[in-house]
Parts: sequence; structure tokens; C-alpha cells
Amino acid sequence: MKLLVTGGAGYVGSVNAAHLVEAGHEVVVLDDLSTGHADAVPEGARFVEGELSEAAGPLLAEGFDGVLHFAAKSLVGESVAKPELYWDGNVVATFRLLEAIREHGTPRLVFSSTAATYGEPERTPIREDAPTRPTNPYGASKLAIDTMITSYAHAHGLAAVSLRYFNVAGAHGRFGERHAVETHLIPIVLQVASGSRESVAMYGDDWPTPDGTCVRDYIHVDDLAEAHQLALQKAQPGTHAIYNLGSGTGYSVLQVVQACRAVTGHPIPATTAPRRAGDPAVLIASSEAAASDLGWKPVRTLEDMVGDAWRFTRDRAGA
Ligand code: UDP
Repeated sequence: MKLLVTGGAGYVGSVNAAHLVEAGHEVVVLDDLSTGHADAVPEGARFVEGELSEAAGPLLAEGFDGVLHFAAKSLVGESVAKPELYWDGNVVATFRLLEAIREHGTPRLVFSSTAATYGEPERTPIREDAPTRPTNPYGASKLAIDTMITSYAHAHGLAAVSLRYFNVAGAHGRFGERHAVETHLIPIVLQVASGSRESVAMYGDDWPTPDGTCVRDYIHVDDLAEAHQLALQKAQPGTHAIYNLGSGTGYSVLQVVQACRAVTGHPIPATTAPRRAGDPAVLIASSEAAASDLGWKPVRTLEDMVGDAWRFTRDRAGA
């Protein structure tokens, strides 16, 4: 298929673009490089540097079989401080993309959504029919996009799938996580192991969890990429399907730190810090729908995620 990958110079986008090229698809990456890196665009993909709102229309006019839409702003804290960036960069830009898709009759869309659309869960594991009550503008912007996509699928026959990621980790060879401002747990812990940070602060040790630290559902970015390919194949015209992507298993912050110690052989000093505002105690996905409808099954372990992220970190440090 000829596929447009928006945000294909970012972490999840570049890994997906690499998987799509490896699977033999014709891939065009559109990215404004606001947070992505030109050298993260995989060999074999055509790279167009440009704004989603302006460049998507002229590109889709060439004729594409589908769009995988990863381009987004994705920092929770920033979204609280500057919500306008999220309504414009996520919602308005995606509206323009949807209009281009409609105008040029692009048949398929796979959208990078998030567990943040659910907010604080009433029960875990979280199913797709759980209430959507995002607790920050980032999650609200992704939920607004999901709502738009549903209406376009119903009204205009688009075959659409939204994938709601839980905690994505790991790397795919030279494609991995390179954020200017790092907020995610595993890269921060690995920064300690690689010597660029003294210690990791664990946000709270008095949560109602077995060891008192927060529990999250980590998923390897390669498992995630496989879900995107299945979604692309299974998308049905006129339907917007929404699937959670997680492993169904939770790991605490302390367990993640311990896994990183085991993989790296570094003692990784950890301190306890106050709870971070907005963190729920436990977030675990039910991925039963993705398993039954898409035939998707995540196979990579926490050790695989940490091991691949660690190799990626060391290779970049040595480069
Ligand atoms: N966390 C932590 N210290 C850090 C970064 C994160 O204790 O330096 C915790 C955070 O409170 C959460 C978990 O690690 O419970 C995962 O956080 P992350 O930001 O990686 O992902 P989120 O679950 O917020 O999407």
C-alpha cells in the first residue's frame, strides 16, 4: 500500500514507518521536525518536512491507500499550561487532515490515540467501553479527535481505527525514544544507568498498590507497530473501531527500576519524591478487543523493552 505516516520522525512514528518499509509498503513520512529528528526517518521512506495542516492536502492529492497519523503534541504538563497548543496542534491540525482525507478520498486511517482519553479509571483492566473523562487537555484533545474520526467514518465511509496506547517503551534497532525533555520513566531510569543523571525520583511510595509505587501497563513499541499493521488490514469502510493496546499486566515503578538494574548491571540509585499531580495509582489495559478483532497479541516482556531501550541508549551515546 502507499501510506502517509504523519509524525514519522518521532519515536512511535519512526518505529512504525520502519516496520511498514520492512513489510514492503511505499511510505511517505510527513513531519515538521518540531519534536522529531530527520535522521529518524527510515531508509526507503520518502521524507516531506512540513506542517500537517498545510502539507497533508497536496500530498494526499497524489493518491494514497491510507494514513497512519502519529503527529501530535503529547506532553501532559505542557497541555495544562498551554492548552492552546493542543487544541491547535492536535485537534485543528487533525481536522485539516480529515478534510484532506475526505477531499481526496483516502480510504483508510489509523490514529494514534491514548489511554489518557479515559482519565482516572473506575475499574481495571480498562475496557474500550469505560467512561472517557480525560483529566488534562492532552487527553481531551485526543478524545476530541476520536470523536471527529467517528463522525467522518459514519458520514464519509472512511475505514478508521484508533489505537489507545498505554505505556509505550523499548526501541526498534536505531529507532527509539529521543525526547528533548524526557518525562517517561524507563528513559529516565536508563539515563541514570548511562551516567547522564544521578538518580531517579519515584513519585510516591504510599499509593494503594502492592509496593506503594504506581502501576502501569508497559507495551513494547514493536508489538505496538504490529497492531498498527493489523489495524490497517482489518479497517472496515464506514466504521471507526477503537482498541486499547497494553499487555494486560501491570508493573510498579519499583519493579521497572529493578528490571533496569538487572538489565544494565548498574545500581541505579532511586529516591522517593512527592506524588506527581494527575497520576492515577493503577493503569492497566484490557486488550481483549484487539486480541479478538485484530488477532493481536503482545509478545515482548518488560525485560525486552528495557533491554532494547538500553541498547538504543548505549548505541546513541557511542555514536
Ligand atoms: N515516574 C516516576 N519517576 C519519574 C517518571 C515517572 O516515578 O521520573 C512514574 C510516574 O509517576 C508513573 C510511572 O512512572 O507512575 C510512569 O510514568 P510515565 O511518565 O513514564 O508515563 P505515564 O504513565 O505518565 O503516561
